[in-house]
Amino acid sequence: METYASLLAAITPTSGETREVFDPATGELIGTAPVQGVADLEAAIDRAEAAQGAWTALPDDERRAILHRAADAIEASSEALAELLSREQGKPLNGPNARFEVGGCVAWTRVPADTPLPVEVLVDDGENYAEMHYRPLGVVGAISPWNWPMMISIWQIAPSLRMGNTVVIKPAETTSLSVLALVAVMNQVLPEGVLNVVTGAGRVVGAALTSSPRIGKIMFTGSTPVGKGIIEASAQNVTRLTLELGGNDAGIVLPDVDPAAIAEGLFWGGFINTGQTCAALKRLYVHDDVYDAVVEHLVAFAKNVPMGVGLDENNVLGPLQNRAQFDVVDRLVQAAKDGGATIALGGDPDYDAPGNFYPTTIVTDIDPHNDLVLEEQFGPALPVIRYTDLDEAVRLANELEVGLGSSVWSSDRTRALEVAARMQAGTTWINSHGGLHPMVPFGGAKQSGYGREFGVEGLKAVAEPHVISG
Ligand code: NAD
Repeated sequence: METYASLLAAITPTSGETREVFDPATGELIGTAPVQGVADLEAAIDRAEAAQGAWTALPDDERRAILHRAADAIEASSEALAELLSREQGKPLNGPNARFEVGGCVAWTRVPADTPLPVEVLVDDGENYAEMHYRPLGVVGAISPWNWPMMISIWQIAPSLRMGNTVVIKPAETTSLSVLALVAVMNQVLPEGVLNVVTGAGRVVGAALTSSPRIGKIMFTGSTPVGKGIIEASAQNVTRLTLELGGNDAGIVLPDVDPAAIAEGLFWGGFINTGQTCAALKRLYVHDDVYDAVVEHLVAFAKNVPMGVGLDENNVLGPLQNRAQFDVVDRLVQAAKDGGATIALGGDPDYDAPGNFYPTTIVTDIDPHNDLVLEEQFGPALPVIRYTDLDEAVRLANELEVGLGSSVWSSDRTRALEVAARMQAGTTWINSHGGLHPMVPFGGAKQSGYGREFGVEGLKAVAEPHVISG
């Protein structure tokens, strides 16, 4: 079991290039992270390749048991991990934040470990026989973002290891310590070389990882533009890809809802992790009949949700993780103001305060083609668009190039299912938004990416299908 101090000491570099890491809530220096390069990456791939044969050769039960021991190790150090995550990422300890994320890492390690993927008999009719095996791909390269740095890394790591691959992971530059810490804890029990982390710049280390002929599969979660570059990089070696890219999730509220009853669900759908969530509600279309009441209840709920420094146990919303993201949110809210929208809540950041706090912001009576609607804000600013014609709302919801998640809100399940069927997205939730389950495949439609994580499909995605026939 690690304490916060022992964990930080274990991952603090003693040589090489480093960068200072500041708490995004206070601006306080919290530590130093290594900044590694291509030579470090090649050495990590060497270690992963060297370990892969023995890891694959282990009986499946043994690999599964080792993954459970890794989950035990995360559990034992969960407070230290949550504190580090909170200080580096900014998210509070409480609410659906740092402790929740570390708990998610435990669940998303145990469930793939327990999910069976036996040999499938495809045809056996007396004349023909064929069966499907799922072989390891070798070394999986994983690249994760800064919003849920530990959880998303685990989504990439755990299924890959379960299927007999070894892993080299490159965290986002601004949340390297969180991933280094998670890997250090898991490596207390994993065999040497099975799980490796290399920090460094995306365009240097990330680019080298995605174009390496020694990598069997890339698991990437991040923005759509970087994802497109990875598709190009993968062409050289026909590297397999799972791409979880950006989103701009729409929710459609039908006129039959109870506005008071859905306010809390709408709020957390949009503002979980202070809006820095890939599959968060980012555009809310509300029918004119209930528009004013939905806004009223949403604002009433939102204004009482405490935002502040992560280590304060009272807070459940935090700062933006980095200033660049603060600037994106600020620019888009300004665009809404310039376009004549109404700021129903927030929209007035204190630019001189320490930390990257942007207040919880709800924007109403906004043009459906304002930049705050069309671009992914990835922060705590939700545009609420009024509609009268459902077909038009569905058309607006589907008109963007991205399609990660979406939601339909209604008291009539049959009606909600009809509308859900028309949404272009990897997931459509009914009367909630963004809930994930480790057995339910998750991923994007359109330019939100391809491939699915979680469940049996997620295991198959980090394996090479191999038919034995005859
Ligand atoms: P990003 O694309 O800038 O960075 C993601 C990762 O890619 C980082 O580790 C970065 O270092 C690396 N990278 C950057 N350039 C690279 C290159 N040329 N080659 C290889 N790797 C490179 O994204 P971000 O700003 O960290 O994250 C925010 C974005 O991620 C948002 O658009 C959000 O919607 C998306 N996201 C999607 C999901 C999902 O599951 N679909 C989950 C979380 C975040």
